[in-house]
Amino acid sequence: MSKKSIAFGRILRKFKDDPVKFRRILKAGMGFENLRRKKFPNKNRPSFVNTINYLAVSEVFRALKGNDVAWVNLLAPSEILLAAGLSPVSAEGISGTMSSMHLEDIPLNLAAANGVSNNLCTFHRASIGTAMWRVFPRPEIVVTTTILCDGNPGSFYKISKSYGSPFFLIDVPRGRRREYVPYVEKQLYELIELIESITGNKFSYEKLSEYLEREKQTVENLNYARRLLASKAVPMYLYEQMNTLYIMHTLAGSEELLKASKELIADLEDSSVTPSKRILWLHIPPYYDNELFELFSPDGKVWVITDELWWDWLYPVKPEDPVRSLAEKLVFNIGAGTVQERAEFLLKLASDLRVSGAIHFSHWGCRQSSGGVGYLKDAFSMAEIPFLELSGDCVDHNSESAGQLKTRVNAFLEILGVRE
Ligand code: SF4
Repeated sequence: MSKKSIAFGRILRKFKDDPVKFRRILKAGMGFENLRRKKFPNKNRPSFVNTINYLAVSEVFRALKGNDVAWVNLLAPSEILLAAGLSPVSAEGISGTMSSMHLEDIPLNLAAANGVSNNLCTFHRASIGTAMWRVFPRPEIVVTTTILCDGNPGSFYKISKSYGSPFFLIDVPRGRRREYVPYVEKQLYELIELIESITGNKFSYEKLSEYLEREKQTVENLNYARRLLASKAVPMYLYEQMNTLYIMHTLAGSEELLKASKELIADLEDSSVTPSKRILWLHIPPYYDNELFELFSPDGKVWVITDELWWDWLYPVKPEDPVRSLAEKLVFNIGAGTVQERAEFLLKLASDLRVSGAIHFSHWGCRQSSGGVGYLKDAFSMAEIPFLELSGDCVDHNSESAGQLKTRVNAFLEILGVRE
């Protein structure tokens, strides 16, 4: 996310009324960037970061090419899609891509002109508008869940309607109770049936087990990395935290993510530079270039060492019983529980990682994040971990109140004992 993306966005904007040409130029640009990140990774950056940055672009590039793509939300069971030969792309990631080029106003205006309420969060509005705009080709299927986000069912339905693609909603009851597992498992079998009818291929449960075998190893690696993160860190920009959390969800069980998890361990073991202050980011950071990138730059003294959404999806999956296991993974996701459970999970994370403080970014229009932040603030305060709530929009760069964010972060850093 850089001046380069914004400059590219300026060129693209000239073709906003011609989605075919727009797509062609965007595809050429992303194709070039995809190749550059793959063949010429930045030698000065950790391998894990280079891999994640490559995979993030690669996912959107594949969606742009339109071969066997599934639009998903972060918590959809990507393992099933990947095992069926489909490429999941996070619809929120597509919104983020538009935002990184400062082009999000185009799909946001399109969504508004078509009656999409401004009360909806901009991740949803921008992805609905992008679907209406037809810059990305029609996906084979659109899949989402009810976990965490009440905007998901309506927004993803709208995306599927706009493209005329099949839609599948996985209803995961709130409460993280074992008795919900068969209900969710049944829906996963229905999803598999739908995928079979779309692809015309028999679904391979062996392949799904292979994905889960790799996921099991990835989860073990990440749990080990978590122990290393208690005293070490990998220097990352905020937008790279965002890339990481997308990829960790949409590529769960893939060889690429397994490789990235090994690189993370190696990078942490090799790291010699440690920041003077270590921040845990809660919810998500803004995607467009902004003041926060500077404040938490890897060149500075304060690093965001991880985002909570690196860890919510980790579940000890069982390759020998793959569908049941994925149903459990959805039911027991921390986002399917109460805010008290989330607070417990986050306090444990903060204590394991020995963070200096936590920053919660409340994204405008996101009811779950704004609704829970008061409780989290109290829980962190009781645990005597400094906590800052920032509010803003992660997608709409025009809504940015950069000056205010900077002032608030600087005041917080002073509390942490950081001197400029
Ligand atoms: S920011 Fe909140 S409302 Fe928007 S997609 Fe994420 S969870 Fe849903």
